Amino acid sequence: MLAAEPAAARLVAGCTGLTPRSITIDPALRIAVDALALEELHGVEKGGERLRIGAATSLRTLAGMAGAGALAAAARQVGDEVLQRQGTVGGNLAMSGRAPHDLATALVALDGSVEVVGAGGRHQVGADQLCDPGFTFADDQVVVALEVGLPSGSWAYRKLTTNAGGYGVGTVAVHHDPERGPRVVVNPGTGVPSRLTAVEEVVARGGSGEELSAAAARAMAHIEAADDPLASARYRRRALVGTVESTIEEMGGTAR
Ligand SMILES: Cc1cc2nc3c(=O)[nH]c(=O)nc-3n(C[C@H](O)[C@H](O)[C@H](O)COP(=O)(O)OP(=O)(O)OC[C@H]3O[C@@H](n4cnc5c(N)ncnc54)[C@H](O)[C@@H]3O)c2cc1C
Repeated sequence: MLAAEPAAARLVAGCTGLTPRSITIDPALRIAVDALALEELHGVEKGGERLRIGAATSLRTLAGMAGAGALAAAARQVGDEVLQRQGTVGGNLAMSGRAPHDLATALVALDGSVEVVGAGGRHQVGADQLCDPGFTFADDQVVVALEVGLPSGSWAYRKLTTNAGGYGVGTVAVHHDPERGPRVVVNPGTGVPSRLTAVEEVVARGGSGEELSAAAARAMAHIEAADDPLASARYRRRALVGTVESTIEEMGGTAR
């Protein structure tokens, strides 16, 4: 239905990301395809070293999930408890690239992937693709599940907000797997996560303090940041340097 009538049909899940205006403004829109009715999108599987989370899983379920590391921490930062009960993992990921959505930042830090299915078949969208500013999910693509290796090592996730409990203006996720090395990921409000590879190199050799600050500042200066009424791009770049540093400091958190 999504492929056959792309202008008329829209996939909906928890409906927390669809404003009434976004639905009523488009006169062509007349079919809501209920993602929550698709059996395949439900369920969580832990097999071997992998964790697979169905797209219909609520953010609240993910928020309390043992073993999900920075992903669970990110889900706990989405809106409030009511929103987390209603909103889904798939809806959150599908909105990445369009706004500062939380899960994609953590997913990239964990080097995870997203399983999608559509008229073009079924495939995995990797972390690197999510970091491509040109990437969007096609209108007929359904997010089926996300997949990560069971996080080992240490991780942390932080959200920079305009004020306590306010809107997020940027997110940072870090994960240091002893075998694969550190991954430091920032989303400065654009919805597109970026890896700070220069900062990762400093973390890998145990650098900290001023060396880390300087690397974070240099890396952030080259990242495209959102510039909107919540925060200017300049503010985001400068403030997120501090968030990157404090997230790395906090990374002592035990992987679950
Ligand atoms: C008050 C408020 C605060 C919010 N705060 C945050 C926040 O802090 N962080 C954050 O990240 N987001 C936030 N959001 C945005 C949004 O609610 C969440 O991202 C939520 O996870 C969306 O999930 P949903 O199931 O409600 O998606 P829906 O609203 O049902 O859908 C959202 C979009 O995703 C598409 N979609 C849904 N499911 C799938 C799927 N399985 N495959 C492909 N496409 C799909 C839909 O077509 C639609 O375009 C907030 C929203 C509100 C209203």
